[in-house]
Amino acid sequence: MNIPFNKPYVTGKETHYIYQAISSGKISGNGIFTKKCQTFFEKRYSFLKTFLTTSCTDALEMCAILLDVSHGDEIIMPAYTFVSTANAFILRGAKIVFCDNEQDHPNIDANAIEELVTKKTKAIVVVHYGGVACDMDKIMDIADKYNLFVIEDAAQAVNAFYKDRPLGGIGHLATFSFHETKNISSGEGGMLIINDERFLERAEIIWEKGTNRTAFFRGEIDKYGWVDIGSSFLPSEITAAFLYAQLECIDELQEIRQSLWNTYDVTLRNRRSSFQLPMTPKFATHNSHIYYIICKSLSHRNRILGHLRKNDVHAVFHYQGLHESTFYKEKHDGRKLVNCDYYTNTLVRLPLFYELPISKVKDICNILLDEG
Ligand SMILES: *Cc1c(COP(=O)(O)O)cnc(C)c1O
Repeated sequence: MNIPFNKPYVTGKETHYIYQAISSGKISGNGIFTKKCQTFFEKRYSFLKTFLTTSCTDALEMCAILLDVSHGDEIIMPAYTFVSTANAFILRGAKIVFCDNEQDHPNIDANAIEELVTKKTKAIVVVHYGGVACDMDKIMDIADKYNLFVIEDAAQAVNAFYKDRPLGGIGHLATFSFHETKNISSGEGGMLIINDERFLERAEIIWEKGTNRTAFFRGEIDKYGWVDIGSSFLPSEITAAFLYAQLECIDELQEIRQSLWNTYDVTLRNRRSSFQLPMTPKFATHNSHIYYIICKSLSHRNRILGHLRKNDVHAVFHYQGLHESTFYKEKHDGRKLVNCDYYTNTLVRLPLFYELPISKVKDICNILLDEG
C-alpha cells in the first residue's frame, strides 16, 4: 500500500457548475457563483459579510489594508504558523511580535499575549491550528482592554466552533482557505469575513482594485472610479463554481473526516505508545482538519517518519517556527519560544483525506505502534 498524505476530493458536481458558469457568459469575478458561495457562509454561520478571494493569503492582505497597518505598527501572532499569516502585515511595514504556543496545544498561548502588548500594538492574529479554537474569550478581553483588533487566521477552521460560535465569526476580521490541502477546496481560494460593520464599505472597494465598481453595479452611483488603494482580490466564477459544488457536500465531507479522525484517536488512545496524542480543549469543537501526534524529540520523530515511509505511509511534519526562519531570524527580538520550537521538532501529521478507507487508518496506527 502506498498512502499519500493528502488527496484532494472532487464531488463530481464541479464540472457541471463550471459548465454553467461558462454558459452564462460571465466568468470574471463577483457573479452568480461568487454570490452563492458568500451567501452560503453568511446564512449557515451568520457571518455579517463575506468576500470570496483568490486565497487565504489574499484575504489576510486585505485585513492588513483594512486595518491601515503601516510602518511602526506591531502585530502579535504565533510563530508556529504559515508564512502568509506574517507576510500580509510585513508587506505593509509592520513589525511582527511572535508569541509562544500553549504547552499542550499548538495554538497561541492566550496567557502569554498581554505581556507583549505595547503602545504600538495594533492587532492580535490568532491561528486555529488544525481547526481547534484558540481561547477566544480571553483573547477578545485583552483586545478590548487595550483597544486592539483581532484577526482570526481561520484558514484551517471552516465548520469548527468555539463554544457555540463558528470560528471566523469572533474576531473583527477573519480568513478561510480553500487550498487543496484544506477540508473544502477550490484548488486555490479563500475568503475574507467581516464581523465589524466599520469595515464593510472599504472592504468592497479594496476587493475591487480600489474602485467603487460594486456600488456601481448595484446602481447606487452612475459611474465608478478609483477611490482607495486595493488589488485584484476576487477569484473568477470558475473557481467559485468549483467551490460551490464542494460547499453543497460540506456535511458529508465533514462526516467522513470526523470518522477518520475518531478512528485514529480511539485506536491510538487504547494502546500504549511513546508519543502524545492531540488535546482538544473543552470549549472547542474541531473540524477534523489534522490528526497529529507529538514525538518525544527530533530524533524520535525522524525515526517514526522513517518507519512510516519504509511502510509507504506519507506522514509529514509541519511548520518551522517563523522566528527561526531565514527571513525573520535577524528581525526577531530574540525571545525564546520553547513550545513553538517543540512543535517544530516533534509534531507529525498523519494521512487524512476523504478517500482514505477506515481500514487503512487502522493499518497506519498498527505501523505506528510497531515503532512505539
Ligand atoms: C493554508 C494556510 C494559509 C494560506 O492559505 P492559502 O489559501 O494557500 O493562501 C494561511 N494560514 C494558515 C494557518 C494556513 O493553514
